Amino acid sequence: MKSFRQELWFETAGRRDFINITSEVEQCLQKSGIKEGLCLVNAMHITASVFINDDESGLHHDFEVWLEKLAPHAPTSQYRHNGYEDNADGHLKRQIMGREVVVAITDGKLDFGPWEQIFYGEFDGKRKKRVLVKIIGE
Ligand code: ZN
Repeated sequence: MKSFRQELWFETAGRRDFINITSEVEQCLQKSGIKEGLCLVNAMHITASVFINDDESGLHHDFEVWLEKLAPHAPTSQYRHNGYEDNADGHLKRQIMGREVVVAITDGKLDFGPWEQIFYGEFDGKRKKRVLVKIIGE
């Protein structure tokens, strides 16, 4: 069995952002040389997510509004976590959007359903953070 590991690094200009990382993951898969197997992609930080959905700006706006309704950033004093930090909402938003995705690899390609794309979800940005890509198979 072959195994491949790579970290992808991101630093968003704002506190929150969604970044399509599908092409970066596809590059990892090409480098791995693996044709049949599984590809795990996970955020390595507890205020960031990796998720699969549509690359459609209206939907991304809807996610942002929905998450902000569920866990508003302000007032930061509403959260017990915010003693030394101001990112309690980021932890909650990450929990909803998920830590990782697993995509099947078939015939050397990510075996997606219609319109599926992989996104990095940042909820406490403006600093360097990373995503792990781990691919196993033959
Ligand atoms: Zn925190």
